[in-house]
Amino acid sequence: MTTLNPEVTKFLSAQPLKMFVGGRWVEAQSGKTFETLDPGEGTVLAKVAAGDVADVDAAVTAAREAFRKSGWATMPVNDRAVILHRLADLIDKRKEIIAQIESLDVGKPRGQAAAFDVPHAAQTLRYYADLSVHTRRREPIAVSGFDARTIRVPYGVCGFIFPWNFPFLLIGWGIAPALAAGNTVVIKPAEDTPLSTIYFAKLAEEAGVPPGVINVVTGLGETAGAALARHLGLNRMSFTGSPEVGRLVAEACGKNLVPTKLELGGKGAAVIFDDVNVGAVADSLAGAVTLNAGQVCCTATRWLVHEKIRDEFVKQATATLGAMKIGYGANPDTNMGPVVSEKQRGRVLGYLDKGVKGGAKLLLAGGRAEVQGHERGFYVKPALLTGDPGNVCAREEIFGPVAYVMTFNDEDKVIDLVNTSAYGLANSVWSNNLDRANRVAEKLVAGNSWINAHNIFAHGMPYGGCNLSGCGGGVLGPETLSDYLRNQTIARPLV
Ligand code: NAD
Repeated sequence: MTTLNPEVTKFLSAQPLKMFVGGRWVEAQSGKTFETLDPGEGTVLAKVAAGDVADVDAAVTAAREAFRKSGWATMPVNDRAVILHRLADLIDKRKEIIAQIESLDVGKPRGQAAAFDVPHAAQTLRYYADLSVHTRRREPIAVSGFDARTIRVPYGVCGFIFPWNFPFLLIGWGIAPALAAGNTVVIKPAEDTPLSTIYFAKLAEEAGVPPGVINVVTGLGETAGAALARHLGLNRMSFTGSPEVGRLVAEACGKNLVPTKLELGGKGAAVIFDDVNVGAVADSLAGAVTLNAGQVCCTATRWLVHEKIRDEFVKQATATLGAMKIGYGANPDTNMGPVVSEKQRGRVLGYLDKGVKGGAKLLLAGGRAEVQGHERGFYVKPALLTGDPGNVCAREEIFGPVAYVMTFNDEDKVIDLVNTSAYGLANSVWSNNLDRANRVAEKLVAGNSWINAHNIFAHGMPYGGCNLSGCGGGVLGPETLSDYLRNQTIARPLV
């Protein structure tokens, strides 16, 4: 039994947990609720308000009102930045509480949430708050015969739909630039992991963000998510999740001509040349594919290993993967927690089955994992497959701790092999020959090419995907702030 922080106990005791709309904590207008589970125990963690069309409408209306009247959009940029810094400071202060909520709801190791997810969200708020202070909002235009200028103003109401793998981190990545630009937001978190978003709204209230600037509607994708995507009151939309749902959201927004950002799935490759420290690279990639139980959109799941080092690499990778400590998120020894749901476990095991039936060979079997004392949790073991590049496990996103090994002996061919993927989020090249590493990194088609590392995120370094992995500008870069500022030209003939 985990010892809960008293603040977490208090937060969870106010069930059903309410939504945050127009600065008020409200139940769903229908009175309906849904359950979110602790994936490490397989038991109900909390009942949460199940928002629907009417609740989304109320939230968008509140956000429109706040955009027009709260002063958020028009206040001096520095004042807005001060509030965002206050929110970031509160996040840091409550880091352990948020990390515990995140660990309970997502299943991830609490230490990882405290070391990465939570502080990274706070830093994103600070990055965009500071950037907004130094961003020009009016530029004179030198045109003959006119007094002309461009002003850059916020759009209005921005909708955000998020997935379940990094709920708290992704709120920061998503809404920080929109808020810093002066927009108001409506957030629909994933139904599997709504808790840290609700807690985030509490912190926003405490930080003095005006009512209606940040709204949270909890609910299911097909109801609350779909209602948000098609709402005529939106001025922008951002969706993070699967390509399948991304398409639906983009279609709904397209019908209303609402500009949309899509941050979607991936099938990242790691290209490993024969001049590396084989053991160290195998360990790094084993760590990458088991981070967050493999539920990481950009992680390396296709391992393209030079044939000369293939056997040594596989030996080390299987040893490291096999030794991973699988366990409950609150246990400090845990390297890898459960996957988020029984459905997700079924998806991972189903892919292993399909892959083997399609001719792939298991180098490490994977399968269900039993964790003593947590028998009902959704645990899986890491798996390693090998085989043909056309195998379903080499092509499709599994979203679990599963990697697929292939070999190569030719630089051009391996580049072509990486680029056969329908996705385009992130790949990495591993070599001590930096000329070669840089050359190959530039030829891989994806939003991100990393060298001698996988999963690199930094504020100021744009992160986004192409092809099936998304479109619309990505996140974390300076350009993302501009994505949330609309250009308007003011002109007068000089007569
Ligand atoms: P998902 O697409 O199933 O769900 C994402 C969100 O969409 C959830 O909030 C869900 O409720 C909502 N939704 C579902 N149906 C909807 C509908 N009809 N209309 C509107 N909204 C709807 O994705 P998931 O399973 O939660 O997350 C996993 C996926 O997210 C993976 O593909 C992963 O790669 C991707 N992802 C991408 C990034 C990135 O930055 N590129 C980051 C994290 C996750």
